[in-house]
Amino acid sequence: MAHIRTQVFDGPGRPLRLVEHTGGVELAPGEALVALRLATICGSDLHSFDGVRETAAPCVLGHEGIGHVVQQNDRVDCEDGDRVTWSIADTCGHCAPCTRHDLPEKCVQLFKYGHAALDDGTGLNGCFATHVVVRRGTHMVRIPKGLSDAAAAPANCALATAVNAVSQISVPPRVAVVQGGGLLGLYTCALLREAGAESVLCIEPAPARQALAERFGATPIDGGDLDRATEEVLQRVGPADVVLEMAGVRAVLTQGMRLLRNGGFYGLVGLVHPDSDLPIRAEDVIRRCLTLRGVHNYAPRHLDAAVAFLSRNATRLPFDELVSPPFPLTELAAAFDAARERTWARVGVVST
Ligand SMILES: [Zn+2]
Ligand SMILES: [Zn+2]
Repeated sequence: MAHIRTQVFDGPGRPLRLVEHTGGVELAPGEALVALRLATICGSDLHSFDGVRETAAPCVLGHEGIGHVVQQNDRVDCEDGDRVTWSIADTCGHCAPCTRHDLPEKCVQLFKYGHAALDDGTGLNGCFATHVVVRRGTHMVRIPKGLSDAAAAPANCALATAVNAVSQISVPPRVAVVQGGGLLGLYTCALLREAGAESVLCIEPAPARQALAERFGATPIDGGDLDRATEEVLQRVGPADVVLEMAGVRAVLTQGMRLLRNGGFYGLVGLVHPDSDLPIRAEDVIRRCLTLRGVHNYAPRHLDAAVAFLSRNATRLPFDELVSPPFPLTELAAAFDAARERTWARVGVVST
C-alpha cells in the first residue's frame, strides 16, 4: 500500500499538520487514487490559508495539480500509471445546472477539491498531499508526453478558467484588453491571440509581469496609474470590443467600463471576493448595449481544451517559467510564504 501523507489545514493562523495515513484507501466504484507529482498554490489557496476566504477546516488545501494514477476502481478514462489532471469540481451529471443550464461547475451536489472538509469521503480531497482520491463524477484528462509537470499543473484551475472566459466571446475581437497579468491574465492573453484577436493589451502594474505578458502575446500597458493606462489604450487602439477583468481589484472596474465600445463585452473573472461592488449604472449598460458576464470555474470541455492548448503551444510559450522550483510538501508553510511574495505566478509543491 502507498505511503500516504497529507498536510492538514486547521484554520487560519494555525500550524499545518503533516498527517500519516495508516491503513489502505477503499476506492468506491468510479474512484481513482492519484499520486501527486506537482501541485501549485492558487490565489484561492493563499486566501484560505490567510483567512481572507472561508474554507471548511480541517481540510487538505490545494486543487491545482497533476499526478499518476496508482489505483482505480472501474474508471474508463484512465489506467494505472497514466499521468493525469482532473476537473476542480466533482459533479452529479443529472441536476439542472449539470444538464439544462450547461453549468456543471454549479452542480447542486458540487464537491471541490482542496475546499472540502476532511470528513468528506476518504479525506484525500486536496493536492497538498502525497495522494488525492479523484471521484466518480470528476472529469479526468491524460497529459500528453511533451508537457512538463510545471506546464500542466495549473491547467485544472487557472488555465481552464481562462479557456472558459475566452470561450464566452463569440467572434474574434479586434481589440481585447486583459486587466491583470497574473497567471489567469497571461493565459488569457495567449488564448485571445490564438483565437484571432488582432490587438491584445494587458494592463498590469508589475514590470516583471508586463514582460511576461509580452511573451504571452500581449502589448503590455503599465497599470500603475489606471487613468493614464486607460488613455494609453484608447490612444493606441481605440475602444475595446472585449475587456476581461483578471485583476481581482475593484478599482479596475471603472477603467473596464471606460474602455469598452458600444456593444462591448465585459468578462468578470478575478474579483471573486466581497469587496467587488460594481461602480456601474444600469443606464450605462443599457444605452451602451453592453454585455457583462461572470465566469467562475469551468466545465469539463474547458479542461480538455486547456490541455490541448498547452500541447499545441508547449514549445512556443514559456509555461515552465510561470512556476517556481518546487518546495517539498513538508515545507508547505514556506511555500505559502513564497506565494505571498508574488515573485512567481505559481509556487510549486512536490510530495517527495
Ligand atoms: Zn484555483
Ligand atoms: Zn449536478
